[in-house]
Amino acid sequence: MSYLSIKELFNKLKPVDFYKYYYPDIKEGQNLVNCPFHDDKHPSMSIKTTPGNKGIFYCHACSAGGRFIDFYQKKHNVDFKTTLKEINEKFNLNLKPQERKRKGKEKKEGEEWKVESLRLNPIDLNSEIIKKYFESKNIPKPQELIEYFDLKCCKNNKALAISVGNRWKLKAFDDRGDRWDIDSDAEIEPIYYSLSPYTGQKNLLVIEGFSNLFSLWCYADEKFKKDFFAVTSVHGVTSTPNVIEKLIKEDK
Ligand SMILES: [Zn+2]
Repeated sequence: MSYLSIKELFNKLKPVDFYKYYYPDIKEGQNLVNCPFHDDKHPSMSIKTTPGNKGIFYCHACSAGGRFIDFYQKKHNVDFKTTLKEINEKFNLNLKPQERKRKGKEKKEGEEWKVESLRLNPIDLNSEIIKKYFESKNIPKPQELIEYFDLKCCKNNKALAISVGNRWKLKAFDDRGDRWDIDSDAEIEPIYYSLSPYTGQKNLLVIEGFSNLFSLWCYADEKFKKDFFAVTSVHGVTSTPNVIEKLIKEDK
């Protein structure tokens, strides 16, 4: 099977050149623009086009976010493979499809998690393993949580899929560990979650991982949810100090 290298794509296309296609006035650095993913009357979307940062965008109103390739995928509503193919053509990157190297016939550990197209299903709360999962996390009203965070199921109902920008983080219901749908060595970026419909809140609360984010959402009162934005590091405990450092730097 052949594929286009995401690494090469990021090497060849500067975030600022990508976003110029949609926002002709965009500059290198921090930008604030109208969000295309909700009916945006005032600019609510931050776009960072610092070279090497992969063009991280984040909408402070509707929480849409990700890298510039995720922006493309969301904007044009195409799958990930098509996204790479179309960006390659539209921006004349001249990337050549590469052959995927297979080491022998046996599957590499974790390979079953690496998928080109993730098949996502609604979460079935009648399933025993899923019921147990939410019970073990002390989540009293899983249905409400599922709806708020738009959680999905994948891998024949073996894993929970959590949207992170326009990517998916997968967590096995039996706690076999976390995986990503794509390039798991992605850089550490803070991910913002609004705990309630946007009201312009400014306080940030750094949360360790998704289980804690879910607990917070379940147990915090409405006032708290209004006053705080949750930020989570998506790469686990060890990356949290880096996330905090980044947030402090960005605040300056
Ligand atoms: Zn938005």
